[in-house]
Amino acid sequence: MSETVAHDAKASEVVEQYLETIYNMGMEGDVVIGARLAEKFKVAPPTVTETLKRMVRDGYIEMDSRRQVTLTPKGVEHAEGVLRRHRLTERFLVDMLGMQWHQVHEEACRLEHYISGAVEARVVASLGLPTTCPHGNPIPGSVPDARNYLKDQGAIRLLLAEPGQPMRLLLVSEVVEDEEAIIHYLHDRGIVPGTELSLVSGPPEPDESDAVLALADGSQLTIPARVAYALWVVPV
Ligand SMILES: [Zn+2]
Ligand SMILES: [Zn+2]
Repeated sequence: MSETVAHDAKASEVVEQYLETIYNMGMEGDVVIGARLAEKFKVAPPTVTETLKRMVRDGYIEMDSRRQVTLTPKGVEHAEGVLRRHRLTERFLVDMLGMQWHQVHEEACRLEHYISGAVEARVVASLGLPTTCPHGNPIPGSVPDARNYLKDQGAIRLLLAEPGQPMRLLLVSEVVEDEEAIIHYLHDRGIVPGTELSLVSGPPEPDESDAVLALADGSQLTIPARVAYALWVVPV
């Protein structure tokens, strides 16, 4: 994180949450529009429009004629600063405080806005330069190009994988990390980054139906298709 970002702490927590989400959706190849953000944050569309207008005014985002949202270089820099603190905080809570990986996202969402550069540097040093959060998401500044991490790793969504092809879980989408039920469900079934699994069958879209997975020990398990969509895997 650069000094300018450390001192440009005027963005409100809400704006920082928007920046993180827009960044993550972009990283996962999703089109970002107001309606999707309203759904994500469970707020009324006019509220989202208000915040987006403020973010355009402050130079964090741009909106094109189809109202698609993209981050400006300033927006990317600020989003990466917040996400870096978020993911390092999760790492700290798991590695140093012994919390479980399904418990830390919420805590990190609160703490990420208040961590100074000095604390961040100490955390990085004591953790031995981690490159990902406990859910597998890249720590900006600790990997060559966090925005293109999925592409660089050759990752695809599990739901879109070839049935039967052995895959390894790279990361759980940060877009669903804050859906506690999903994270809990995966944790309870031992599905963590590094787990080997394959798709048995699933719908072509993340709809209301289920997908069936096979684990390396031969057991099978049914998960909602939208969860399989949120899991990014790489071929074994
Ligand atoms: Zn998180
Ligand atoms: Zn995480």
